[in-house]
Amino acid sequence: MQTPLMGQMMDVPLNVSTLLVHAARYAGHTEIVSRRIEGDIHRYTYRDCEQRAKQLAQALIRLGVAQGDRVATLAWNGYRHLEAYYGTTGFGAVCHTINPRLFPDQIAYIVNHADDRYVLFDTTFAPLVAQLAPRCPNVKAWIALADDENIPSIDAPLLGYESLVRAQDGDYAWPALDERLASYLCYTSGTTGHPKGALYSHRSVYLHAMGAALPDAMGFSAHDSVLPVVPMFHVNAWGIPHGAPLAGAKLVFPGKDLDGKSLFELMEAERVTFSAGVPTVWMSLLAHVKSIGARFSSLQRTVIGGSCCPPSMLATFEDEYGVRVIHAWGMTEMSPLGTLARLNWEQSQRPLAERRRLLQKQGTVICGVDMKIVGQDGRELPRDGIAFGDLHVRGPWVIDRYFSSDESPLVDGWFPTGDVATIDPDGFLQITDRSKDVIKSGGEWISSSELENIAVAHPDVAEAACIACHHPKWDERPLLVVVKRPGAAVTREALLAFFEGKVAKWWMPDDVVFVDELPHTATGKLLKLKLREMFREHVLPTAREGAASR
Ligand code: AMP
Repeated sequence: MQTPLMGQMMDVPLNVSTLLVHAARYAGHTEIVSRRIEGDIHRYTYRDCEQRAKQLAQALIRLGVAQGDRVATLAWNGYRHLEAYYGTTGFGAVCHTINPRLFPDQIAYIVNHADDRYVLFDTTFAPLVAQLAPRCPNVKAWIALADDENIPSIDAPLLGYESLVRAQDGDYAWPALDERLASYLCYTSGTTGHPKGALYSHRSVYLHAMGAALPDAMGFSAHDSVLPVVPMFHVNAWGIPHGAPLAGAKLVFPGKDLDGKSLFELMEAERVTFSAGVPTVWMSLLAHVKSIGARFSSLQRTVIGGSCCPPSMLATFEDEYGVRVIHAWGMTEMSPLGTLARLNWEQSQRPLAERRRLLQKQGTVICGVDMKIVGQDGRELPRDGIAFGDLHVRGPWVIDRYFSSDESPLVDGWFPTGDVATIDPDGFLQITDRSKDVIKSGGEWISSSELENIAVAHPDVAEAACIACHHPKWDERPLLVVVKRPGAAVTREALLAFFEGKVAKWWMPDDVVFVDELPHTATGKLLKLKLREMFREHVLPTAREGAASR
């Protein structure tokens, strides 16, 4: 057999540190602005950030942290958190970002499961650290992201971040690491069972950052001022802390104040052009902007994902404020970006209604990721926009297996996402449900997501969830659970009438129930398992009559 002819190019490893080095060299004076938990605004540059990340690396090495060791963070979006990203991964340690919104039991489980050596925390989380410390004996010290005078007095082995960093000179060269080494550890929210860890490599993070930065993905430029509302403790803030330095974009960190007023003021003050977050955040931002009759003077585009972006929100941003919405889908197991809704040249020539129809979907994959939908028998389903199936993905930033688990979650080399979706002839993905949340009426599937989107388009509805409710004839029928806007008086009948003509008759919810609030996961997604439990005994009016219209 002939010897294969190999390419003869340099094998330079793709390292996370090189993203920050690039920004420090070529956007050295570009600012990183943070609203600190101390209450003030902190400003410095990429050059300063790299310097302090090196000092942190030196400090951690002095403390005995070795390559492969896990160093955790419990922190808001801010410059010290960014230093922690690079100051750990830069020398081969693993940055484990913890979601402080999880239950303390889950956090203790995660810290022990990850075997974290040190945990860096914002002092707002001091009460949480006090609870966790006795339950996490392997953590050598909890490092307060603060000056010595602001270190909280709690019963735990504590160190002060600023004094640790200040004690080092920053005379340190990032080592070239094998690109397959682990870099970040992120746990899923764990709505059922324990959270599971996704362990990213340097290579996967680097490639994901390049994919995210592409013009038709998040599209970062050195002219952008980027404000990630999505937390750095949730899937690396969708890769923004890597994609922004790669492009040399200005970074603006909102800290802990994520209400509409605080965000809007920061966006205006820092001339933010790009932002990203989950729909609930934008709901409060839009409500604030409307209440004061303001306009966005610099914001050009925003990525909305994590849950389905209601079409009404997309229309408000675009029609009333001229801000382009990019609907995106992804998950922890895919670093997280999978798809984004952007039109190609030909699609952008189509009539407005057709363009909108596409942009409301979750979009097409970033080059590098591949997706397909499969039926119950595992066979691929047509990309006709009609067939529903289990969504499977693969690519260089999709997990192969979970941290500390030998079992492969893959099916024929593909990762089953647990989402149910359609893919249309344009290649646009539309998520219809989580597979365990799907509503099966007489053997046919009803998309809860589509019904929820219609419900929230009603002016009196603040939030809505659609769940399967037992039905004696059809097995399951949709039940709509609604939170009204304050002071709204909408009735069950009026809401049901609102669905007329918008969906097939057999998709119409069989009942509407009003509640004060809906249960959410730590990452802001609807907790439908809990809702289904709450309404397990609910008797649909159609069940009493013996049949649902279908
Ligand atoms: P997480 O791993 O916490 O980021 O959650 C990932 C899950 O969030 C996905 O599997 C989807 O179920 C859901 N999700 C993310 N983005 C969207 C979106 N744009 N529309 C609907 N569901 C989404």
